[in-house]
Amino acid sequence: MLVKDRFFIGGAWVAPAARESIDVHNAGNGEVMGRVPAGTAKDVDAAVRAAREAFAAWSETPATERAAFLDKISAGLKARADELARTIAQEVGMPLKMASRIQVGLPIANFANYAKLVRDFSFENRVGNSVVVREPVGVVAAITPWNYPLHQITLKVAPALAAGCTVVLKPSEVAPFNAFVLAEVVESCGLPKGVFNLVTGDGQTAGEALVRHAGVDMISFTGSTRAGKRISELAAQDVKRVALELGGKSASIILDDADFATAVKSTVNGCYLNSGQTCTALTRMLVPQSRYDEAAKIASEVAKGFTVGDPLAETTKLGPLSSKAQLERVRNYIKKGVEEGAELVAGGPDTPEGVPAGGYYVKPTVFGRVRNNMTIAQEEIFGPVLSIIPYRDEEEAVRIANDTIYGLAGAVWSGSDERAQRVARRIRAGQVDVNGGAFNMNAPFGGFKQSGHGREAGVYGLEEFLEYKSLQLKG
Ligand code: NAD
Repeated sequence: MLVKDRFFIGGAWVAPAARESIDVHNAGNGEVMGRVPAGTAKDVDAAVRAAREAFAAWSETPATERAAFLDKISAGLKARADELARTIAQEVGMPLKMASRIQVGLPIANFANYAKLVRDFSFENRVGNSVVVREPVGVVAAITPWNYPLHQITLKVAPALAAGCTVVLKPSEVAPFNAFVLAEVVESCGLPKGVFNLVTGDGQTAGEALVRHAGVDMISFTGSTRAGKRISELAAQDVKRVALELGGKSASIILDDADFATAVKSTVNGCYLNSGQTCTALTRMLVPQSRYDEAAKIASEVAKGFTVGDPLAETTKLGPLSSKAQLERVRNYIKKGVEEGAELVAGGPDTPEGVPAGGYYVKPTVFGRVRNNMTIAQEEIFGPVLSIIPYRDEEEAVRIANDTIYGLAGAVWSGSDERAQRVARRIRAGQVDVNGGAFNMNAPFGGFKQSGHGREAGVYGLEEFLEYKSLQLKG
């Protein structure tokens, strides 16, 4: 049992102001795996004050010194990689081997990458008679979700620290233990006190207290569109800068000349990654009407190959969902899909066979002949549920892909790279894979429309945490 009863504030482990705690459940069996303190406005205030106090010195620390700390944090996480992977596999439900590569490998790489990026970054440019200076925004409130918990924390904390900002992190209450490991690593690296602070708690109490706090300059939020809207409203009261990474309902367009075996398989994989709890999940697969049967058959076969089970078991390809609430939500969406007349090609709302009791397991599900105005094609399900939507021609495919309130990601498949790229350029989304192009950690990541605004990753993520200042010189 992992029990945490302190926050990391001002370089020390500090007792919370109140006694309430939050139970954290093991996604694989539903048991309580530990608990963390439920932070209040008082705890948040202490953390923000510590961050404020640390800001002046940290913002003036040379970038090369800040970079050296980031390298140390990367090494510190690496030293605890196995423990982190096991913790996240249980908090979130992602199969262990994959969690080790993605959930832990990416954060280790990203801390080191930001050390490199900030060493190479030019903080001053000359424009005519002006010197344009890049300065850190100030105190950053980082509020993060549970699906890729440490990765999402890293995409805020690493560039914010690199930029010279100080941070108060409020991680997800569903998967908070990885954030405590990060705080321990930060402590062991000797980062100046107050530069990084950790407070846990729920969104309404700790999260909103952080967003409202007058000592916070910027809120960097990743999570649901619902919470993003609420945060924007609150932050508007004193015109805080806000960056939002929100939900998605991404389309994979398979054009008539594509290699169907590869395209369908990759789309199903992209939909089921992390049990569908991925903001960029390719949840709508658009296929030509004339080749619908072929696509549905491949998708059904691929889905059936996803062995559902305990995230710690070697044979598991699809772990559980992260929480009971998430399980109910996804099951209800599957029922809704059936009610609205979509064709159930694979899976369904029942519990899969042979899974550990108490865990939050759902069958890998494929719906066929989905119309884009159905609930399952419009709302973010956040589970392993794929909708196959037939289209008549390329024009209609693009229209359907863009017929969503979201604009986070997408994919296009064609026998011609040039044609695939042409169609990809017409998709209103922040990131579009062209014929299975690989993930690039230095490319900007973020959304159009209700998927948010602002960009994370690479140098774009660093610039989020910087202000411009012009010094007008005389001559
Ligand atoms: P969530 O919005 O419920 O919670 C995210 C975080 O915000 C948590 O730390 C929570 O405590 C906090 N929070 C909730 N309400 C708040 C409020 N009113 N004020 C301040 N803080 C508040 O989201 P979730 O269920 O943890 O994560 C799933 C969602 O995140 C999905 O919609 C998914 O698409 C999205 N997501 C987006 C990205 C991206 O980069 N675009 C990445 C991962 C997840």
